[in-house]
Amino acid sequence: MRLILLGPPGAGKGTQAQRLVVRHGIVQLSTGDMLRAAVAEGSEVGLKAKAVMDAGGLVSDEIVVGIVAERIELPDAQKGFILDGFPRTIAQAEALDGMLAGKGVPLDAVIELKVDESRLVGRMENRAAETRAKGENVRRDDNPEVFAKRLVEYRELTAPLVDYYRSRGMLQTVDGMAAIDEVTAAIDRILKAEESASRG
Ligand code: AMP
Repeated sequence: MRLILLGPPGAGKGTQAQRLVVRHGIVQLSTGDMLRAAVAEGSEVGLKAKAVMDAGGLVSDEIVVGIVAERIELPDAQKGFILDGFPRTIAQAEALDGMLAGKGVPLDAVIELKVDESRLVGRMENRAAETRAKGENVRRDDNPEVFAKRLVEYRELTAPLVDYYRSRGMLQTVDGMAAIDEVTAAIDRILKAEESASRG
């Protein structure tokens, strides 16, 4: 099973992806996590990405596509994966289509977490407060100014992917404003339907 979770920052993609890992035994591929790891390591990619991420911009398609192309070749990704935070531009979606075609494997589902934008800043602030309460470091880009920029990037560059996948008949939309467990249940229903369809 190969799927994409699509939605703005704070929509709950990471939370839902982690639950799907446990339920479906497939890996979560979060480009945000991979980039943060590269920044922490101080690798060449990390050095290039850091300033862009701190400003709430998008890292170049070339860098991100390169990271994903390598990652999906690793053994643990062969059974399937959940892409969380990728693709974020049409160019990335086209590159992903090319990678999957090259491997001869399909994309099974694109699940959009639809949320009310006016609630996203509050969600980001909750995530930051919970992280702080656990004594962990809050993400440098989880502050109101940078978050506003991340939302603009989403609207301008990532939201067009909704139509990209809808026009290919791949888009499934879930109400991301529902309780976390309800969102998980809605995603599970979609995946079960996909599984039985692919069994024919
Ligand atoms: P996330 O954890 O998904 O919110 O990503 C955090 C930051 O990493 C984003 O604001 C971008 O700067 C960068 N990033 C993550 N995924 C991508 C992507 N697919 N394309 C470009 N930049 C990305």
